[in-house]
Amino acid sequence: MDNYRLFIQKQQTFFRTEKTKDVSFRIEALQKLRKAIQENEQLLIDALRADLNKSEFDAYTTEIGIVLEEISFTLKHIDTWVKPKREKTPVSHLGSTSFVYPEPYGTVLIIAPWNYPFQLAAAPLIGAIAAGNCAVIKPSELTPTTSEAFARLISEIFPEDYIAVVQGGIETSQALLEEKFDYIFFTGSVPIGRIIMEAAAKNLTPVTLELGGKSPCIVHGDANLKLAAKRIAWGKYINAGQTCVAPDYLYLQKDIKNEFLAFFKEAITELYSNAPLQNPDFTRIVTEKHFDRLSTFLDNGTLCTGGKTNREKLLIEPTVLTDITWSDPVMQDEIFGPILPVLEYQTLDEAIEGIDNHPKPLALYIFSESEPIQKKIVQSVSFGGGCINDTVYHLGSPYLPFGGVGNSGMGAYHGKGSFDTFSHKKSILKQTTLFDIPYRYPNVKGGLRKI
Ligand code: NAD
Repeated sequence: MDNYRLFIQKQQTFFRTEKTKDVSFRIEALQKLRKAIQENEQLLIDALRADLNKSEFDAYTTEIGIVLEEISFTLKHIDTWVKPKREKTPVSHLGSTSFVYPEPYGTVLIIAPWNYPFQLAAAPLIGAIAAGNCAVIKPSELTPTTSEAFARLISEIFPEDYIAVVQGGIETSQALLEEKFDYIFFTGSVPIGRIIMEAAAKNLTPVTLELGGKSPCIVHGDANLKLAAKRIAWGKYINAGQTCVAPDYLYLQKDIKNEFLAFFKEAITELYSNAPLQNPDFTRIVTEKHFDRLSTFLDNGTLCTGGKTNREKLLIEPTVLTDITWSDPVMQDEIFGPILPVLEYQTLDEAIEGIDNHPKPLALYIFSESEPIQKKIVQSVSFGGGCINDTVYHLGSPYLPFGGVGNSGMGAYHGKGSFDTFSHKKSILKQTTLFDIPYRYPNVKGGLRKI
């Protein structure tokens, strides 16, 4: 196991020079990052194709474009975000003024997963830089071409004692976690999230955990079924279902089941043709191990559509399984693949109860034309975030902090949310010396009660 202590000490020394606290330094770093991404766009697209067979369209829209947007948004607002924020002061503190100063934590560790290997390593880094931190990023070992392209891109623009990419697998991650960081930002699975939090606890290091879970997608009887089918098929099968906020399972109101599933099959054909395994742009499953795990679900319930696979190319067709119950294997853990099980409900309360009996999901989607029904779901079910009449799209807005709750994670990022995540809020009360109100002192009769 490598020892990263010396290397992290170098970052701590650099942080103490206070260079990263200068806003123009941060802006310049973000501009450099943007330029490097633009210049290496083709390299990144090729890497994502090599690791996951991502199409150029998906590579740009879900990885590169999203990161470039995040940089532009941050550059547009950073001057406002970094300013100390003046707050109100209570009358009991007469003579003083109150401020909250955002301050960088220091050296932060970012651990990323494989499913959006560029975006999920680069997007948190934008927040870390904007907030004035040094950073070590550990990308996923399961997408080595993209991790290598990212590492090269970063090493060409930043010195190691400011931003560094450390490549490697579990052992590398574990060795890094032996060290004391000032903040840890982890994106990955629930079980590994627990390991990260335990390691962070040793040093009382604050953490953001961006985890996963089974995100429900409810289609109520009054929904625009045709449109719902298309938006759900897109959100589920993009990246072959290997998306943390993909609808994990459908919760369909019984009466519309057949009509909806007919639209859903049409949508799959429209988006991926009627031979998705021959579609050169359909994302593949990341490894044989993941492929084999997913394949075991294909005989759950009744096969409604899809189900064909190609192990050599690690491809699984967009698949729908009906006659599913909560006790089926496919309903035990996050699926993370192009397989969509369907549960049915009669009353909305039934669906709510089913969801509430399971860990809080990262996302939830409700398709309904009725505002009271939309409101009921949003108010009564706890989940990280989601959409009404859409899927996945909330993740792309820099105005919406993105994160989980309960088992699906803690903390949030994107846009100002990222800046806040990587900043400690330092509260300062500035007192006047022109006068001194005496009531706080024990020798004053009546003390504070007089105010
Ligand atoms: P993972 O938890 O297996 O791995 C994530 C990272 O942790 C990798 O860099 C890996 O090297 C490292 N790691 C693995 N085992 C470790 C250990 N024992 N100790 C320390 N580090 C370790 O996750 P994954 O398979 O790469 O990604 C898929 C999971 O990530 C899914 O559960 C998905 O829902 C979740 N995810 C969440 C989000 C989000 O934003 N909430 C985004 C993408 C993926």
